[in-house]
Amino acid sequence: MPDKNPNLIPDDVQRLLGKDAQRNNILAARMVAEIVKTTLGPKGMDKMLVSPTGDIIITNDGVTILEEMQIEHPAAKMIVDIAKTQDSEVGDGTTTVAMLAGKLLENAEKLLDKKIHPTAITKGYQLAAEKCQFFLNQIALKITPYDEELLNQLAMTAMTGKSAESSKEKLAGIVVRAVKQIENDKKYDLNDIKIEKAKGNGVENTELISGIVLDKEKVSQDMPSSVQDARIALVDFPLEIKNPEIDTKISISSPEQLQNFLDQEERAIKLIVSKIKASSANVVFCQKGVDDFAQYLFAKEKIYVCRRVARSDLEKISKATGGKIVGSLGELTANELGKAQLVEEISSGDGGVMTYIRGCLNPKALTILIRGSSDHLIDEIERAIKDGLGVVMSALKTGLVVAGGGAVEIELSRRLRQFGQSLSGRERLAVEEFASALEFIPSTLAENAGLDPIDIITEIKARHDAGEVNAGLNLFTNKIENVIEAKIIEPLKIKSQAILSSTEVATMILRIDDVIASNGKNKGMNFSGNENYRGEF
Ligand code: ADP
Ligand code: MG
Repeated sequence: MPDKNPNLIPDDVQRLLGKDAQRNNILAARMVAEIVKTTLGPKGMDKMLVSPTGDIIITNDGVTILEEMQIEHPAAKMIVDIAKTQDSEVGDGTTTVAMLAGKLLENAEKLLDKKIHPTAITKGYQLAAEKCQFFLNQIALKITPYDEELLNQLAMTAMTGKSAESSKEKLAGIVVRAVKQIENDKKYDLNDIKIEKAKGNGVENTELISGIVLDKEKVSQDMPSSVQDARIALVDFPLEIKNPEIDTKISISSPEQLQNFLDQEERAIKLIVSKIKASSANVVFCQKGVDDFAQYLFAKEKIYVCRRVARSDLEKISKATGGKIVGSLGELTANELGKAQLVEEISSGDGGVMTYIRGCLNPKALTILIRGSSDHLIDEIERAIKDGLGVVMSALKTGLVVAGGGAVEIELSRRLRQFGQSLSGRERLAVEEFASALEFIPSTLAENAGLDPIDIITEIKARHDAGEVNAGLNLFTNKIENVIEAKIIEPLKIKSQAILSSTEVATMILRIDDVIASNGKNKGMNFSGNENYRGEF
């Protein structure tokens, strides 16, 4: 005879069922949206994030905030994931996507309260999302690589509000030139662009350099400061004998033994240097350490050497110069060497020195050298530049852009409401809630700028009803106007991706009516979803 209450799952597995599960997940998603919403738009505020070790990040970037917060709730984590996807797929719009997902769920809750089944809501949401893609393609405007001015504006729209403000035009110019230069048969690989940072000097001194710039100096002052017709060896093993990570003990009992040992070491180092020289390399970038004696020998041979070059940088140099990263001396021959017209050491102001690799075999290799007065500022400029690169690239890929400042959201919402009228009952309600979720974007843009969201939304809606498809909120003037003319534009892909993934995550969360969280330890109710959360029995 089975028990009345058979123990299906172990004691340390917690379970939230039905409404509780739904409400808990929705609440978590809404909280995520609430957190990032104050940063939206050019008038959005920044957040200061302090890590357990005291490192500080000051940012306005949705995905950075969400990543750094180490959110643990499983449903909230799903929102963080779509923000990450937005970042990797489009490079911008991460706050927008998190806000939309939160709002879609908040509005779904209203329908749940009216006893509308989640299946009906998700069906309505999916219909609405599909329609949005259709409408977006109708509304979008074309852009080509020759619309220099528009591309600049696109980059600027993406960078507004991110401390880049004062040098926005200069940075936008750099971003557009960079993306256009890496174009290869309508394809763009942002890996071709290296971002390097140098403290000192103002942001306005940020520059685009063709070739690679490394934040490294040559290991010895006796090495040449510049090398013409560089033949570059890229090695990922240490150019020294002992492995500094392992402490070796050698017992030596007589002076002869010591001399013997030293001689042996010297011979080994000489061999390393002579093998590198034999490959005809005149520049070496080494991922690990370089022995003092080897440095002396390299200097004598007039070989330029940098040590402890990051793996990611070695890979960039490899792509730029056509060199191969070798894992042992035996592999190194002239064939593995990368080529560049010039490798030189240049002082970067503020006492720092950098290595420039110019005239690379691959002319598409570029570096954006960001300058700024503090690390926090430089890091935030880097995030702004990455957003800029992302939007210019996505706009050129699809060749389509839409109006920012909430214009596209209001137009989509208007068209959705019209479309909803053709539907019956519950789906129509869901489509209407979807439409109202889109209005969350312009209303927050207004709120963050200290304007009255209701007034603003009402006016933008009225202008759209009167046929002004591109009427939106211009936060440079705080007026509602044609934002395309005001040059506030965004790539179509930002909006289509944001709508796609926020709908996906909202419907996924709405379908969950049972959360089974394995805690590992019997710690009582804990739906913060820790590491052990596997949702399994
Ligand atoms: P996200 O992480 O979603 O990209 P942002 O903080 O970058 O968030 O804000 C993007 C929003 O700000 C977009 O809706 C965009 O249209 C809007 N926006 C950018 N510049 C302006 C402006 N000058 N006036 C009004 N809205 C703007
Ligand atoms: Mg943005």
